[in-house]
Amino acid sequence: MVSLAATVYLGLGANVGDRLANLRMALARLQTLARLEEVSSLYETQPQGVSDQPLFLNAVCRVTTGLEPQALLRFLKNLEWEIGRRPGGQTWGPRPIDLDILLYDDRVVDAPELKVPHPRLAERAFVLVPLAELTPELRHPLLGNTTKELLASVGQEGVKRIAPAGWEKGEGNEGTAGARF
Ligand code: AMP
Repeated sequence: MVSLAATVYLGLGANVGDRLANLRMALARLQTLARLEEVSSLYETQPQGVSDQPLFLNAVCRVTTGLEPQALLRFLKNLEWEIGRRPGGQTWGPRPIDLDILLYDDRVVDAPELKVPHPRLAERAFVLVPLAELTPELRHPLLGNTTKELLASVGQEGVKRIAPAGWEKGEGNEGTAGARF
């Protein structure tokens, strides 16, 4: 049987409010239109670009979905809104949730509102550490390097693993769950 579903890697980040609850809510809501296949460990990371802001929580997940890239982006933007993000914030500034399409099969999209692979994927340790955890041998469709190779050239500075995969299934908020990490 031919599969119509695409395999997609999504990056998740949060550094405002209950970061853990925001990430868990995003993963729960994602499952209305995508099948959640795997979630990385949870990482606490130093902010990039604008350094005077709270630490981020970051993770990557693999989903399969029948949504085309542009429809998936619209869905993710709606989800960001639902979780409390409002457009117009500072570029690379604080945000309750950030959902990025990192890779969509080996498709390349170059539209004004959507670039896939994500243009900054290869520069960001907070993306490459969880991505290489899930799929070290996957090749970047434009650069040709594996995620493990990209990570080796960027390094892991500023990225701390704070909970193993499964963190997304837990109960409670950051205050109570934090004690278990
Ligand atoms: P961000 O601040 O990371 O949420 O990104 C701001 C804008 O980047 C979004 O409104 C998207 O239109 C655009 N964008 C371009 N490529 C991507 C991608 N691969 N994933 C998510 N957003 C993207």
